[in-house]
Amino acid sequence: MFRSDVLWAALCVTLIGGCGAVTASPEPSGPAVSVLVQTSSAWPAGALSSQLGTARKRFGECGIALRFVDQDGPAASSYDLHFVASLELVDGQAVEGRAFALRHPKRAEIAWAAPDGTPLDHKQTAAHELGHLFGLGHAPLHSINLMAPHGCELCRFTPRQCRIIVENARFVPLAG
Ligand SMILES: [Zn+2]
Repeated sequence: MFRSDVLWAALCVTLIGGCGAVTASPEPSGPAVSVLVQTSSAWPAGALSSQLGTARKRFGECGIALRFVDQDGPAASSYDLHFVASLELVDGQAVEGRAFALRHPKRAEIAWAAPDGTPLDHKQTAAHELGHLFGLGHAPLHSINLMAPHGCELCRFTPRQCRIIVENARFVPLAG
């Protein structure tokens, strides 16, 4: 449990009835970061909102408030997140996502299906690929870690990964 969670829980005890839904996810206190989201019609709305929801939650646990904006949004973003129909095979294998951390804007792409149309197994793929854009590399192959090459269904970012993410988030313009 993060220290801020403890503090928040203590506050809620004293403010009886005043905390409600926010108790489970206090507003992140660190930098806010805008992410431009573009979506292919191949993505079902439920799967899309699940990916965005878990990404927002995982970054929120690191203190980062992700703000997802669309093309009509107000501000240019340093981070692009594209939900695409499919990505080309890598070494003959289908991939769920890929990240380009060294270009500007930084860009991650997440595929709904393999090139042959077979839906892919997404394990917090958006959180994982955004993790790359915020400076994280891969954890060892079979580790239980959000940044393991094949992702992780339920993992959070580790405290060390959170520190790296926060460091990198500080170098982008803050959302208004
Ligand atoms: Zn990866």
